[in-house]
Amino acid sequence: MASFAYDPEDYAGLGTLGQAIDSFDASPAQTVLDTAMCDLFEKYGMASKFGLGLVHRHFDMSDKEILVEHGATSTPWAIPTDPSNFMEGQIIPRSWHFGEDADAPKPYEFAFQRRGETKWPAMNQDLDAAFVEELREALQQHGLMSILGLVALPADYVTAEHPTRVLCEKTFGRANVVFELGPEAMLDKEKRTSVWTFGKFARGGRESMLCFSGCMCTRDG
Ligand SMILES: [Zn+2]
Repeated sequence: MASFAYDPEDYAGLGTLGQAIDSFDASPAQTVLDTAMCDLFEKYGMASKFGLGLVHRHFDMSDKEILVEHGATSTPWAIPTDPSNFMEGQIIPRSWHFGEDADAPKPYEFAFQRRGETKWPAMNQDLDAAFVEELREALQQHGLMSILGLVALPADYVTAEHPTRVLCEKTFGRANVVFELGPEAMLDKEKRTSVWTFGKFARGGRESMLCFSGCMCTRDG
């Protein structure tokens, strides 16, 4: 997979958060996350590198724009001539979705990484091809191709069963801001999980892979 294959038209075709939540709720996604996806992430040892995301768009963008996270905020940037060499860094993909017809995941959200920084895991085609293919097959089998996608986890991402802080996105106009809230935010009905992460935890005397909320999205945003 080309590391940079962004298609603004593809982004424009994604559903809103509300539509994504409705599709998720009408699907077996939660059960699949807790079973088949736990097995898959354990089999390939991908839990520290990737999670699964609820595929949605936050706001409309033009065909000249790309959604890039810098710091805690994602905003539309004019697509630079060379995304791999821009402002002493590069724009790298951080969220992918398969869509109904794609055999390779398509990147739709990006992050800015300064040269020399190693916050984001690279999607290495050779290394990850088998994992990505099995993920695609599992999503297809359960009818989740347009509901769940792959997200890269930055090095400092919250991956705990009982986190002391909860990442929560909120959209303001055409900016999407990630806040760090206390764990009680998980009880707020206006907030829904938008990123699921995986980890090994002891349950009933043995360790098993569990799926939990890695990031929430504020519904009114
Ligand atoms: Zn969101």
